[in-house]
Amino acid sequence: MTPYPKDMMALVDIETMLQMRQLMEEAGVLIALYDQDDCLRYANDAFRAAWFIGQDEHPGWPDLMRRNFHAGRGTVVKTTDFETWLRSTMARRGKAGFRAFETDLHDGRWLWMTETMQPNGWMLCVASDITSIRSDERALRQDRDTAIKASQTDELTGVTSRRFVMAKLDELVRGTGDQCREVGCLAVLDIDNFKYINDRFGHSVGDAVLKDFAITLQRLTRKTDVFGRVGGEEFVLILPNTVMGEAEAILQRMLLAIRHSRPLPAQVSFPYTFSAGLACALRGDDSHELYRRADLALYAAKMRGRDQVGIDLAGPAPGDVRGLIATK
Ligand code: GH3
Ligand code: MG
Ligand code: MG
Repeated sequence: MTPYPKDMMALVDIETMLQMRQLMEEAGVLIALYDQDDCLRYANDAFRAAWFIGQDEHPGWPDLMRRNFHAGRGTVVKTTDFETWLRSTMARRGKAGFRAFETDLHDGRWLWMTETMQPNGWMLCVASDITSIRSDERALRQDRDTAIKASQTDELTGVTSRRFVMAKLDELVRGTGDQCREVGCLAVLDIDNFKYINDRFGHSVGDAVLKDFAITLQRLTRKTDVFGRVGGEEFVLILPNTVMGEAEAILQRMLLAIRHSRPLPAQVSFPYTFSAGLACALRGDDSHELYRRADLALYAAKMRGRDQVGIDLAGPAPGDVRGLIATK
């Protein structure tokens, strides 16, 4: 039972918000809130000071990291190739419901950082200063985190690895037990006639095409999507909380982007394409079954002439805005 009459509740909520905001300034931790586009919506003074953010500034996370890296301040990022580091970090950023890790700042402070995700892509970051504690075996813990990151990253393209993407697929299908929830879709993407590209231009040019493919499509994914390379020229896109029609529209945008891409500076008129198979998670699916249906849809797209999306018809029809899990 609330102690307030109903019409007082709005005022109480505002008071709660104001108190919470005041306390977040005084809490002795660094707090930030990012939206689904990774734009900073709120940061307390401690967070703004540590990452050099002005009072009225709302930078995107990649821009914030980039400008601090080049100014030699904020988070210590151990790389000589910042953009590659950023790409691989963004491929994994926001894909876990909750994550905690240690990080160090150029000013010498060590932070214990947590990231908590909402299913809609908003993220709360809370960092505590642990400079004076847990300093033993810090290097060992950092080495462990580096090894985990390496296992989750595809070395050539910087997007997520097969291991990472398959674990996320398992997480997606686990949601199919819940009959009231939209679960999402899976797409398997495969570059068309890639063997020909390798044969005609050589393996290193093939590698450049793979990188172009990964970078172009990673840019078109949303924060809640997972995009990874699962083998040679085969990639996977997991689209949680997404209905078939929406997933198909995303893939059409991707087909267009790759059609317009010219990845070879020495062959500026050289285009390439890919095909995709799309399947919606159904009640009772396991990851193998969902993958199998997406793969069959990919095969159909290849058979129909490539450079297109094949749709698995076992799921809801394209454009079905209900997005409910269909029974088989
Ligand atoms: P389709 O349109 O039917 O998919 O034809 P495709 O030629 O793309 O498919 P196929 O499976 O025949 O050939 C894939 C080629 O990808 C064969 C393999 O040598 C090449 N490949 C696999 N991994 C790599 C890699 O890491 N780098 C490069 N450059 N080539 C790779
Ligand atoms: Mg291929
Ligand atoms: Mg293939």
